[in-house]
Amino acid sequence: VSARESEAPAGCIFCRIATGSMTVPLVYEDDRCIAFADVNPQAPVHVLIIPRQHIESLADVSADEALLGRILAAAAEIGRRAGMAPGGFRVVINSGPDAGQSVAHLHAHFLAGRPMSWPPG
Ligand code: 5GP
Ligand code: ZN
Repeated sequence: VSARESEAPAGCIFCRIATGSMTVPLVYEDDRCIAFADVNPQAPVHVLIIPRQHIESLADVSADEALLGRILAAAAEIGRRAGMAPGGFRVVINSGPDAGQSVAHLHAHFLAGRPMSWPPG
């Protein structure tokens, strides 16, 4: 793991969810990731998949290919669930200010339930 991957910083909302100090219903969980509904959904189904470990962004993942694979595998599993994404789904990871990343704890957006345009805004 990279030196920039650290323990939960005070004030990281996703660390609070990951550690259970803030309780939300989980859509998915395994030993490395959890998933829960986005508080401000941009599609009928909008789930965030996050690592339990605090990593600021995709740019801060150095060598943990297994974790990255797990995040995508979680998205695939959610997408296979009955009723979650009958018409398909989109997975988005915003990294850094130009991409609009607003929470500095790595997360993948799982979006489904409506047709989506391309390119994204
Ligand atoms: P970003 O803009 O960083 O790619 O995505 C951050 C996402 O986190 C946004 O879609 C926002 O709605 C969501 N979010 C921010 N704070 C909370 C929270 O406290 N709970 C949940 N469930 N989602 C949050
Ligand atoms: Zn965090």
